[in-house]
Amino acid sequence: MDVAGQFTELYGYAPDGVWSAPGRVNLIGEYTDFNEGFVMPLALPHTAVAAVARRTDGVLRLHSADIDAPVAELRVDELTPLTLTARGAGQGGWAAYPAGVVWALRDAGHAVSGGADIHLASTVPTGAGLSSSAALEVVTALALNDLYELGLPRPELAVIAQRAENAFVGVPCGVMDQMASACATTGHALHLDCRDLSIRQIPFDLAAQGLQLLVVDTRVKHELGDGAYAERRAGCEEGAATLGVSHLRDVAYAELPSALARLTDEKIRRYVRHIVSDDHRVEQVIALLDVGDVRAIGPVLTEGHASLRDDLRISCEELDLVVSTANASGAIGARMTGGGFGGSAIVLVEEPDAESVTKSVLEAFATAGFTAPRVFPAVPSAGARRVA
Ligand code: ADP
Ligand code: MG
Repeated sequence: MDVAGQFTELYGYAPDGVWSAPGRVNLIGEYTDFNEGFVMPLALPHTAVAAVARRTDGVLRLHSADIDAPVAELRVDELTPLTLTARGAGQGGWAAYPAGVVWALRDAGHAVSGGADIHLASTVPTGAGLSSSAALEVVTALALNDLYELGLPRPELAVIAQRAENAFVGVPCGVMDQMASACATTGHALHLDCRDLSIRQIPFDLAAQGLQLLVVDTRVKHELGDGAYAERRAGCEEGAATLGVSHLRDVAYAELPSALARLTDEKIRRYVRHIVSDDHRVEQVIALLDVGDVRAIGPVLTEGHASLRDDLRISCEELDLVVSTANASGAIGARMTGGGFGGSAIVLVEEPDAESVTKSVLEAFATAGFTAPRVFPAVPSAGARRVA
């Protein structure tokens, strides 16, 4: 994929540079990010690659090789959260992601008023829960940070990218996806504390252990997902308020039984139990990885799935089928990952079993009459970087 060459063909001159930012998959810690808790994503080898040139006249031009839409031409000083969303989420809607980043940089007082020409192409599957959106945002933020010599540290770029998605695109996501794309490193999972955005790189060398982490993209996205995220978020806030804490992060795992006893609403009790126990599972996984016992994280992943299915109730038939089939056919552990109601699951397997477990999942999907899922190994890869 020669993104620089495509840029030159499109705009009639060569770009100043080329940057890339990966999609991510979350190992453990789901819906914990907006509760200021812990998450543990890793970067995928799939990336959004952007060729970018700085301009001086305040114009922002945006083009994607993957979308059948003409170049979007905007003015940096006219960007507002309504610029693109007002045009609807149609073919031009995608441009809200990079434009939102330029807006968020400008709005935070960073000097990007000269504008830019951007052409990008991505290998991150879209809508599969692997954060193709964060890849677009982070690659844009990093390119502008370099070209305009803003000197912003990566966590700050991630926050800018999140603000673009929240306030400009209008998607109420947490900060995990952008932090993963901006800060992950090869061969590691990223332990992220979503309260202060402190990070720790946790060695996660699957190949050295003879293991594989498979991503199973179910290729389904159920309608239910859109309102359900906001509903879970509101439920978590209600739980925190009832318990007298600012965020559920502040409920220690040891205090979970007494916290649950104070909650009268059955649904809120389930949500709180998921969040507090998933924060605990992140800590369990880190403790295991720190002593090199990678296989032992398998059952923790599977417990995490049960919690997402039964307590948070964001799984679906397809995701449950991946997990039950994989575990019944020799996987070490499995769980849905990401926002739920479709998207992807992860499956930890002994390398020699990868093929047979994959085959079992494909067969189970065929028998159930579901669309064949896409399966590939999640190799812990590099975070965003300049590539040319
Ligand atoms: P996810 O982040 O899980 O892949 P989202 O719904 O958050 O799913 O983001 C997907 C959206 O991001 C797409 O609908 C599109 O607007 C935008 N997008 C992702 N990749 C590209 C791309 N290569 N070109 C243009 N737009 C893209
Ligand atoms: Mg997204």
